[in-house]
Amino acid sequence: MSTRKQFCQSCLAMVLAGLGAPLLFGKKGDEVKKEEGKEKERKIIAACGITCSECPAYIATQKNDDALRAETAKKWSEMFKADIKAADINCDGCTSNSPRLFSYCAVCEIRKCAGEKKVANCAACPEYSCKKLDEFLAQVPEARKVLEELRKGT
Ligand code: SF4
Ligand code: SF4
Repeated sequence: MSTRKQFCQSCLAMVLAGLGAPLLFGKKGDEVKKEEGKEKERKIIAACGITCSECPAYIATQKNDDALRAETAKKWSEMFKADIKAADINCDGCTSNSPRLFSYCAVCEIRKCAGEKKVANCAACPEYSCKKLDEFLAQVPEARKVLEELRKGT
């Protein structure tokens, strides 16, 4: 199995590639703003800044979509050179108390640390941005952007 860092990069890459992107095409002006507002409310941000609600594992779980589970398992198996089965693709997101958490995220040190510090995510931590987080964010700059926006309150 490869590292969580690789997992997060790949997960983010897929999110950015649009696997879980909202379908805003064909909408204009106020409608788009409304959709964006709703989307913001629905967003689930992991301790590290990854947007869980755009992660294919999260989407497949919430929609109980076996085709997306199979597709994600295949892609992640290839990316991580690991044997990930469709049945492994079950996740309610980093901040959930649910026992359904993808195995890589279940052992994440950043998630564990945020839990111990009782902060929703690293943006709310007085030690932001610590060495452990910096090392991770150097690999996943999009997650830093998310955390920075949270810190600015945007
Ligand atoms: S916690 Fe779950 S939803 Fe969030 S990045 Fe990890 S696998 Fe995806
Ligand atoms: S110490 Fe670092 S990893 Fe832990 S919650 Fe704070 S910013 Fe996140």
